[in-house]
Amino acid sequence: MFRKKIAFILATATVLISCTKDPILVETTDPVGSPIIVPPVAPPTSATDSTLVMGNPSNATTNVADFSNYLLKEGYYSVSYNRDRGIPNWVSWHTVITDYGSVPRQDNFRANTSLPTDWYKVDNLSYSSSGFDRGHMCPSADRTTSIAANSSTFLMTNIVPQAPRNNQITWAGLEDYCRTLVQSGSELYIISGAYGEGGTTTTGGLATSIDNGRVVVPANVWKVVVVLANGSNDLNRVNTSTRVISVVMPNNDNLNTDWKTYRTSVDFIEQETGYDILSKVSTGIQNAIESRIDNL
Ligand code: MN
Ligand code: MN
Repeated sequence: MFRKKIAFILATATVLISCTKDPILVETTDPVGSPIIVPPVAPPTSATDSTLVMGNPSNATTNVADFSNYLLKEGYYSVSYNRDRGIPNWVSWHTVITDYGSVPRQDNFRANTSLPTDWYKVDNLSYSSSGFDRGHMCPSADRTTSIAANSSTFLMTNIVPQAPRNNQITWAGLEDYCRTLVQSGSELYIISGAYGEGGTTTTGGLATSIDNGRVVVPANVWKVVVVLANGSNDLNRVNTSTRVISVVMPNNDNLNTDWKTYRTSVDFIEQETGYDILSKVSTGIQNAIESRIDNL
């Protein structure tokens, strides 16, 4: 009886929604708990993949045995995925002005079916009612030239549980600032990740994990942005005066709204994570740019 009534309401809702113009809305109202299945998207070819030009910070590999440091080359960005944390260790990508198009946000959060068959796959509902946002590492707004490009950012392997005020205000502030740099003649190499365990939201309280323990809530999110004037041979153009913006933000709702509050050095992030960020840059140049804290 009760179930029938629910089914009727859902059927009615589906019909109403089907009549609206935007088919994406149908997906977001899926109420029965089944994951959304979207076919894999076609990424750029390896010849044009510029996502790891500055290095592979943890030497992630495509070997299935490397389950805590598993390399996913999505074409639009690359990931070191950690199976047992259910989140990326880091995501690395390159943004140039031609990555900005007119494709709207697809919002098709979904499992990454390219993970090894027997691995648990975090899906679009894994964060439901947790109090945490599905926080992008490579942002949706950096990949708007095609539906495939934008959809790629909604794979849950590009997502971490992020405190809402962190995601929507302070972290988003840095994402927006990066966009202003690109719009004024820069190209960016960005590496972004999450480490530690335990975040806090005003609605979800303190959590070390969600999704029945299958997704770790990181204690911190970090980002490193290498800023270059538009050009070619990018790795060779990094020098001791190249601007590098690095931040570490605690994963909670009580952050200062200004992302600049959280600036730090690449060296600090390397100490915290054990990674070698910008490893393709010569050691001498790394020493100079990784010890500096941006103050522009
Ligand atoms: Mn976000
Ligand atoms: Mn380094």
